[in-house]
Amino acid sequence: PYVVTEACIKCKYTDCVEVCPVDCFYEGENMLVIHPDECIDCGVCEPECPIEAIVPDSDPKAEALLEMNRSFSELW
Ligand code: SF4
Repeated sequence: PYVVTEACIKCKYTDCVEVCPVDCFYEGENMLVIHPDECIDCGVCEPECPIEAIVPDSDPKAEALLEMNRSFSELW
């Protein structure tokens, strides 16, 4: 799945949310997150993010943030 990094904090552009075909973005406390079990890895959100806060889980930045994305997603 794709992962939202802390670069999103206080950004909250929602261009990514609008293009996601499976609506797997959720609103965390101060940033957006992606539910890793719902993301179908299509990649269309990545170029939409103006601050490059969305990375694939293969990115080293994603590792620490995957579980945070999951837990915020599951609050909803
Ligand atoms: Fe949604 Fe595709 Fe981005 Fe996953 S990669 S969050 S399915 S737009």
